[in-house]
Amino acid sequence: MKIRNRLTLLFSIIVASIVFIFSFITFVLYADYRNDEFYKRLKDKAQTTARLLADVKEVDKDLLRIIDQNTINELYKEKVIIYDKDNDLIYSSIDDEVISINQKLLNKVRQKKYIEYVEKENEVIGLYYRENKADYVVFVSAFDKYGKKKLENLMYFLGLSSLISVLITIAAGTFFAGRAIEPIIEINKQVSTITIDNLSSRVKTEGSKDEIDQLAQNFNQMLDRIEQSFKIQKSFINNASHELRTPLAVINSQLDVALSQNREKAEYLTILKSLQEDARKMTNLVNTMLVLAKSEEQQNDILNDFIRVDELILSVQDEIVSLYSNYTVDFSYISMPENDSDMTIKGNELLLRSAFTNLIENACKFSAKHQAKVRINSEGELLTVQIYDNGIGIPEEDISRIFDPFYRADNGRQIRGFGIGLSITKRAIDLHKGRITVKSELNAGSTFTLVFKHV
Ligand code: ADP
Repeated sequence: MKIRNRLTLLFSIIVASIVFIFSFITFVLYADYRNDEFYKRLKDKAQTTARLLADVKEVDKDLLRIIDQNTINELYKEKVIIYDKDNDLIYSSIDDEVISINQKLLNKVRQKKYIEYVEKENEVIGLYYRENKADYVVFVSAFDKYGKKKLENLMYFLGLSSLISVLITIAAGTFFAGRAIEPIIEINKQVSTITIDNLSSRVKTEGSKDEIDQLAQNFNQMLDRIEQSFKIQKSFINNASHELRTPLAVINSQLDVALSQNREKAEYLTILKSLQEDARKMTNLVNTMLVLAKSEEQQNDILNDFIRVDELILSVQDEIVSLYSNYTVDFSYISMPENDSDMTIKGNELLLRSAFTNLIENACKFSAKHQAKVRINSEGELLTVQIYDNGIGIPEEDISRIFDPFYRADNGRQIRGFGIGLSITKRAIDLHKGRITVKSELNAGSTFTLVFKHV
């Protein structure tokens, strides 16, 4: 069922229930009031007639009958019957109206003093009247024509007004529920037009603070994020295929050159070393990209190693200097760690190794002396690693973009690289809930600072 119909139905049921309950209560209260009032009138009549018969000696039955018929207070289909103490009928107002009275009923009235009951459509009271010498049982019966007519009118009026109220409620409910969900329908319409081909379109927002506008704003923010990651993904695929083609082309041309003629053993060795370096870098790159892709889905599964960061850096240092004989890596502690945990973080070794390798290799390759310096320090719950060099530095305008995939600063383009290392490094550090910052001065050097929480 549509929300609009559901709201209208709910609204109508609530209003209809309230109207019917109130109408019912009004009807019952009025019926009760009419009943009481009519019995009171019957009782008054019984007392007046009995008193007249007892007190005024001159009044005989016929006179009383005439008085009875001419009183203003006369009731419709009224009958008054009076019995004396011997249960003999001493007065009956008219003869054609019948009330069935027997011995048992007379005794009951004497015993209870006053009774009320209904016979056919008439209301009847029985009253035991005792004053001075008088000892009567009086019955008065009548039909409350006006009261019942009024009650019937009231019932029709309440029924009709309830029905009209419900109809008005349904109409108003449909109208207001429709208006209330109109913005949602509008958003729905706009959302359904947004596809992968027009991710830049947005849902219109009013700028108000209501929930529906908030929904539209949140939806737009979600679209921003989707569009952003979609763009990154697109540019990643574009750049990745482009950038991976370059080293592959270099490898191919090196192989072509190597195979074009017979060469000395030393020449083959140089070419093979260069090929090995390219192949190793591409392997590392592809491996790291695979781990990162996996991390998108199962972040917690891949961060389970306890890693001694200083030992990891020393191992990276060994690897780099054994591969590049002209590189030097200068590693030192700012203060000696007191226990293992000061240097240990929980995470993924492959990712951290690739991050440190990339930062240290960059420091070496972007500096004339090919020297990287690494300082490690643990203070409180934080573990800080600084990797710095006295190299070419990064132009100020490029600093904010070097973590973007495949971005390379102009001043380093002649130095070999894929431009992807820092983006992977940043992602790896972010996954470890660490922070990476960079400070650099052109032609003076760069400092990358990494901060983690140790265990
Ligand atoms: P690559 O080193 O393969 O070019 P990275 O993603 O590792 O890719 O680095 C991106 C860019 O950041 C580099 O091309 C370079 O311009 C700049 N950069 C990174 N590290 C340094 C550094 N230590 N000194 C100078 N520039 C650097």
